[in-house]
Amino acid sequence: MSVDIASIPAVVPNWIDGAAVNSSSGRKLPVIAPATGEVKAEVPLSTSAELDQAVEIAKKAQRDWAAIPVKDRVQVFFRYKALLEENLDALAELVTLENGKTIAESKGSVLRGVECVEFATSLPQLILGQNLEVGRGIECKSFRQPVGVVAGITPFNFPAMVPMWMYPLAIACGNAFILKPSEITPLSAIESAKLLEEAGLPKGIFSVVNGDREIVEAICDHKDIKSVGFVGSTKVAKLVYERCASKGKRVRALGGAKNHLVIMPDADPEMTASNIVASFSGCAGQRCMAASVVIALEGTDHIIERVRELSEGVVAGKNLGPLITKEAHERITGYIDRAEQNGVKILLDGRKNIEHGTPGGYWLGPTIMDHCPPDHEVSCNEIFGPTLSIIRAKDLDAALEIENTNPYGNAAAIYTTDGGTAQHFMESANAGMIGVNIGVPVPREPFPFGGLFDSNFGDGDITGNGAIEFWTSHKKVTTKWAERGRGNWMS
Ligand code: NAD
Repeated sequence: MSVDIASIPAVVPNWIDGAAVNSSSGRKLPVIAPATGEVKAEVPLSTSAELDQAVEIAKKAQRDWAAIPVKDRVQVFFRYKALLEENLDALAELVTLENGKTIAESKGSVLRGVECVEFATSLPQLILGQNLEVGRGIECKSFRQPVGVVAGITPFNFPAMVPMWMYPLAIACGNAFILKPSEITPLSAIESAKLLEEAGLPKGIFSVVNGDREIVEAICDHKDIKSVGFVGSTKVAKLVYERCASKGKRVRALGGAKNHLVIMPDADPEMTASNIVASFSGCAGQRCMAASVVIALEGTDHIIERVRELSEGVVAGKNLGPLITKEAHERITGYIDRAEQNGVKILLDGRKNIEHGTPGGYWLGPTIMDHCPPDHEVSCNEIFGPTLSIIRAKDLDAALEIENTNPYGNAAAIYTTDGGTAQHFMESANAGMIGVNIGVPVPREPFPFGGLFDSNFGDGDITGNGAIEFWTSHKKVTTKWAERGRGNWMS
């Protein structure tokens, strides 16, 4: 079997008990291609009874799955990795259709997901327990066990990759996983389910339950779902975190971001400018690691000018994808309109640079706003589009003050050729992921992905080593045996 992009179902099914199942819900939403505004399918807003059914099946399947040794469990992911690579082109097309990214970006995103699958295949090497004789004849050992049925709730911006931050590792750890994909981009999830089935994953271990807020709340409240991973906006991350925590569940909820990139006067102009352009305009700015604000120190005008020049080569409909929805388009152009009215200098106006976009799509070209007041909404709010707000600052202390008073803490980066300055920045900037001369400082496996403060509710990161702890329980055992021939020799 391989992914067939031409056969998108009219109504996206759920995936329960190893098969595509139509939801009985009468509530549906259109699935719209952002590049054309065309309705490509409908997605059901499943009922909580359908979630209950998926969890019940998952519970039974998980017991058998957990009993399989980890070295055998991960074999599924060796095969899954090969299938993802075989189907890379079709999966990328699907991501582009539902999300709007360019094909190159979609391929890149699937391949980043493949790295998470690779990490899951290493689990036998990573999950070793410990053993020590703590007293004569008394031994303590510790090991990790799966937590049971777990769930992941994911956003629209990386429909294939963000779920792969969670399910390969969670499943390799011995859990059964319920995915609730974004209702805006639900197509990739079902294809992932089919490929997992082909890779030999037993029925019931991976389920997809489509829906919106109602299903999210049902997941948070479900007594048999033990851990919840969430990735999305800060508002919803906080709701999910609080709701799960109030039910005594484990939860890691990653939220939004407002990432600052600082340009020092000694930065390499060409490398800095091209890197900033890629950071703020890549994936149409719809990634939580995108540059949103540049803090330009005195003596960096030539770099800002080069950012503007290079951004002119990023063209909506050619090498830049559309925004996700009509509402997102209205929201983001609204930010630019108000900034202009408030006297912010529009260095490059993406509202005017859209003639290459296909008709009906939600196109916006790269937009650069200069001399933004630090307290203006374009300097403070997550915009989530191909916009760059430039704040001018006199020195690094002033730049750090701006970065460190924003409530988010996902990423921050500095461009400099001075090691001491870079060291000071990495120690002082309040973000979980720091870049030095890199504007999208995504840590790659085995390093974990996760921000701080309003970008991450819960304790820890969503990928890498830290996530193994999240998807497992730590068991400690103390044993004592009678010495041969001497009875209970310890007493
Ligand atoms: P979103 O918060 O609107 O949706 C995320 C998920 O929450 C979806 O599955 C959706 O169905 C559900 N949801 C939406 N509203 C809800 C509500 N009121 N109650 C319960 N559930 C609800 O996010 P989005 O617009 O799909 O994605 C973009 C956001 O995700 C941005 O803020 C971006 O920064 C963030 N994001 C963060 C990371 C990270 O690693 N920190 C990664 C990717 C995206």
